[in-house]
Amino acid sequence: RLLILENHFAVDLLVKNNECFGAIVLGAEDRVLKIFAKATLIATGGIGSIYRHTTNPKIATGDGIAMAFRAGARIANMEFIQFHPTALYGKKINDRSFLISEAVRGEGGILRTTDGKTFAEKYHELGSLAPRDIVARAIATEMKKYQADFVWLDVTHLNPERIKSRFPVIYNTCLELGIDITKEMIPVVPAAHYVCGGIQINSMGETNIRRLFAAGECACSGMHGANRLASNSLLEALFFAESAATQCQKNIKDLIATDFSHKNNFSQNQEILTLQPHQLNPTEKKVLAELTERLRKTMWENVGIVRSDEGLENSRQELATIESIFNRQFTKVMAPEVLEFSNMLIVAQLITHCALLRKESRGLHYNVSHPLPDDVNFLKNTIVTKDEINGTSIRD
Ligand SMILES: Cc1cc2nc3c(=O)[nH]c(=O)nc-3n(C[C@H](O)[C@H](O)[C@H](O)COP(=O)(O)OP(=O)(O)OC[C@H]3O[C@@H](n4cnc5c(N)ncnc54)[C@H](O)[C@@H]3O)c2cc1C
Repeated sequence: RLLILENHFAVDLLVKNNECFGAIVLGAEDRVLKIFAKATLIATGGIGSIYRHTTNPKIATGDGIAMAFRAGARIANMEFIQFHPTALYGKKINDRSFLISEAVRGEGGILRTTDGKTFAEKYHELGSLAPRDIVARAIATEMKKYQADFVWLDVTHLNPERIKSRFPVIYNTCLELGIDITKEMIPVVPAAHYVCGGIQINSMGETNIRRLFAAGECACSGMHGANRLASNSLLEALFFAESAATQCQKNIKDLIATDFSHKNNFSQNQEILTLQPHQLNPTEKKVLAELTERLRKTMWENVGIVRSDEGLENSRQELATIESIFNRQFTKVMAPEVLEFSNMLIVAQLITHCALLRKESRGLHYNVSHPLPDDVNFLKNTIVTKDEINGTSIRD
């Protein structure tokens, strides 16, 4: 028998002495529940919402990663964020950018600057068909050069009937949004797509916290290294979810006599448990929307596709400012939007922190201040924990 609680928001993990006993959850009618479990698995997805442009759904606010970080879990490789090169620019669906598949370029689509010139071949011999990170970087560089918000993806030279039959969803969605792609060029922009880092897990989906597991995009199994190959994430999610489920079942048998007598004594969660459920008023909503926009702006401009030491430092400072405004305004408030924002802030800080630690360029982390890989010093995972965040955190 499986009990599914829909429309419940996981707030925090119940952790004591590096062992997880479940989670604090915000339920219907603002009821705060403590759900006790012999094994807990986090599967909260990605983090794309912290960037101005993302292909991810709205829920991709990194809640699980932030929760695990607060609980003391090891968080790995957060600097490796994959940007999909071509999301539709200017028109969002449910707050997310619509993805124009790589197959469109495979079919012969050509990338052009805003004045119509081709450019991809300057960056790689495969031109528009180069690996994702190279095409995304080429687009970002040209956008900067032209002070443009997008580039064009041109399929107008291809057979219209073939376009319609090969890409019916893209054709129809763009048409509904006012662009006939067989006649007009498509404005595209790179968009945050996938986080290779996350809660560090072993091959059984276990984290460093006993009885706490993670799977899917929120987890870092190491399988994607510094640069995910397209289409590998669902495979990874399925594999590690099954491994974790097998291990959980084993644990449940072993833990049959678990003692929850100390269940009211989760000192780490005391602060969260004192928060009061609260509906935001219009002024609070406005402030939160402004802070979200500021966070997305700094992440997009400074911790995006092309980074620099100066930009990363700017982001670190801007995030600290955002944090102090947020803390002043929203202490003692338990509302999903506020909790989500606080998680986004933690994730943004983790990405910036990890990116600052890695003084080289590798995979999805490209820093113009250190444009080459440095195997001697950085052929390693970047691992951070709450206790180590101010220390030296790059480890094997
Ligand atoms: C447009 C697009 C196309 C893609 N195409 C491919 C592809 O072709 N091949 C491939 O391998 N990968 C692809 N990916 C990546 C892949 O889809 C994702 O990595 C994968 O779906 C993530 O699955 P998940 O189960 O980890 O998270 P999700 O599917 O995002 O699920 C997370 C769940 O957790 C819930 N949740 C989050 N926070 C909380 C909270 N605080 N409390 C309670 N619930 C919460 C959410 O509501 C959601 O239901 C694509 C991604 C995108 C965005």
